[in-house]
Amino acid sequence: MTVAKMAGAGAPEEAGALFVAATPIGNLDDVSTRLTAVLERASGVAAEDTRRTGKLLHSLGIRVAMVSLHAHNERSRIPELLERLLAGEDLVLMSDAGTPGISDPGMRLVREARQSGIRVSPLPGPCAAVAALSVAGFPADRFHFEGFLPARRAARRARLKQLEAVPETLVFYEAVHRLTAALEDMQEILGGERKAFLARELTKIHESTYGDSLAELCAAAAAGVIVARGEFTLVVAGGGAQEQDEKALDAVLRPLLEELPTRQAARLAASIAGCSRRLAYRRALALRPPGERVP
Ligand code: SAM
Repeated sequence: MTVAKMAGAGAPEEAGALFVAATPIGNLDDVSTRLTAVLERASGVAAEDTRRTGKLLHSLGIRVAMVSLHAHNERSRIPELLERLLAGEDLVLMSDAGTPGISDPGMRLVREARQSGIRVSPLPGPCAAVAALSVAGFPADRFHFEGFLPARRAARRARLKQLEAVPETLVFYEAVHRLTAALEDMQEILGGERKAFLARELTKIHESTYGDSLAELCAAAAAGVIVARGEFTLVVAGGGAQEQDEKALDAVLRPLLEELPTRQAARLAASIAGCSRRLAYRRALALRPPGERVP
């Protein structure tokens, strides 16, 4: 494949464009003005679920023909869609919610359209992972988007073991019926003290967020504090971040341990360093010279 083809050159001049459109993850007011304008002019929409996208189009007062393009028919749909694009039609690719291709179908059509020299242009907008990161208060100059973990427990745990040392903030999508099991595995494998942030039903009426460590999220899920309904995105601190936090905590703890009993030093250090008392106490025990009495 040539560089020119990758760059999008080589399609007939009359070829149309494929617009990759992000759609609301809950709040319909998040439809952009540009998306509406492009939909009004488009010849067709390739939709993951035509019923769902049909409702969105109806709410916008837009009538445009749809074809379905989902995980199971993407390959077989591509030839006819490419033909239409090459013949000059502008098409819009839409998934059920958020950005196509992000844990959603669309990648193959985009790739093949680009390889055919067709202009592929984004209509950017909502994405649950980015929305959750933007309100988590975790480092996001770099992050690792994991999407869905494997559904089966053994595979999920094996994948979590591979992620244990990843230093960047981790972002997961999780289905409601697997949330508790996934949190329990994360607590065991990544460590209960790891900072974590759970975003539920972002941009919807019942939007709620929970924190602030995996252990606390597990306890909250078990106690029914986390409403087990709706859609969830989970943000978990990277492996390196925990080590950094522990280093900062140790620096606070050391002088306190010289003057104070362990529990008191841990309590004080936790409030100074802004971490959980449980973590501060665990570090305090680790820092105490062996054999020294623990008051
Ligand atoms: N392509 C979509 C995007 O850009 O956000 C993601 C599609 S993926 C199939 C759907 C998953 O995204 C859900 O299972 C949930 O984990 C997450 N998600 C979607 N909407 C959400 C919301 N409003 N609040 C929290 N998480 C959400």
